[in-house]
Amino acid sequence: MKLNMLGSKDRISRREFLKVIRLKNNGIPFIDKEKCTGCGLCTIDCPTKALIINQNSEKDIYQLLFRQGSCNACGVCQKSCPENCLQLVEKEPEKDKTGKETKVIFEDNISRCMECGIPLFPRSMVKKMKTKIFITNESTWSFNLCPSCRIKTQFRKEIVERIKT
Ligand code: SF4
Ligand code: SF4
Repeated sequence: MKLNMLGSKDRISRREFLKVIRLKNNGIPFIDKEKCTGCGLCTIDCPTKALIINQNSEKDIYQLLFRQGSCNACGVCQKSCPENCLQLVEKEPEKDKTGKETKVIFEDNISRCMECGIPLFPRSMVKKMKTKIFITNESTWSFNLCPSCRIKTQFRKEIVERIKT
């Protein structure tokens, strides 16, 4: 009977596979902060959780954190970035011998709902969405409102329109 690399006869997922292999490539992710929107796709796809999101709503801080000790340089994060702003670059000579140090590789403020104030997305994502969804001079979508306040605002607008007619 053939066993896989985990010693089990069951098939393993791509994520499990990428978690256990140690690649020869010794690159680490580098983010172009001007282009990153903080969408977090790279953290979702990273099989080893070397990339994670840290969101502190009280301080309005949104960060992408990187733990070199957990990274196997598989390059999945580079492929999953929709903005092409993440690249594997050569690893710096090992300063952190334990490999447990966590580095901030992207940081932004959090935009809040202008009606109720709940935290929404990183500001850079709002900026990016505005450039993509603006059709004429007017946006078709309220980026600064949470889903619930967007519905309430739309409802208020409709009532005002009806009163006018
Ligand atoms: S290369 Fe990227 S996806 Fe792969 S383990 Fe390192 S941080 Fe995660
Ligand atoms: S590096 Fe790319 S995938 Fe990761 S948060 Fe930034 S834009 Fe998204």
